[in-house]
Amino acid sequence: MVPQPESNSPREEIQYFKSKCALCLKCIEVCPEEAFTLTLDGIKEFDRSKCTLCGECVKNCMYDALVFVSKSMSPEEVVRVVLQDEDYYRNSGGGLTISGGEPLLQKKFVMEIFQRTKSLGIHNAIDTAANVRWEDLQDVLPLVEFWCC
Ligand code: SF4
Ligand code: SF4
Repeated sequence: MVPQPESNSPREEIQYFKSKCALCLKCIEVCPEEAFTLTLDGIKEFDRSKCTLCGECVKNCMYDALVFVSKSMSPEEVVRVVLQDEDYYRNSGGGLTISGGEPLLQKKFVMEIFQRTKSLGIHNAIDTAANVRWEDLQDVLPLVEFWCC
């Protein structure tokens, strides 16, 4: 299993920390999809194409060697988290940056967050490779203050 940085995939992701793994093999036992393959020096193979993200392995790993490193959130939930730092933004002139992976793969989600935060006077930036359709860039253009490409 190769550790993956979060948000490379548009799906939720599970990360494996080999240094924490006690080789109890519980994950192999509980995985209904047989996504794990044991090698002689540890559980190294994780066929993510088989994984349905049921969470059984994460729930049953007593050593926190398998963890979800992302979760699904609504735009409202994200804005609620952003607003926890509202005082800091107002005092520093800072704001919210959305990065990825590629945030514009979730254009509607990004637009909804920026619409809400802009209406509250919170600055924003987007970190994108801009490797999306021109129409998608045009849609977000009026909402973005700073582009990091
Ligand atoms: S359940 Fe956790 S500790 Fe046990 S083998 Fe799997 S990853 Fe390692
Ligand atoms: S989340 Fe479910 S399907 Fe995916 S590896 Fe873990 S137990 Fe298997």
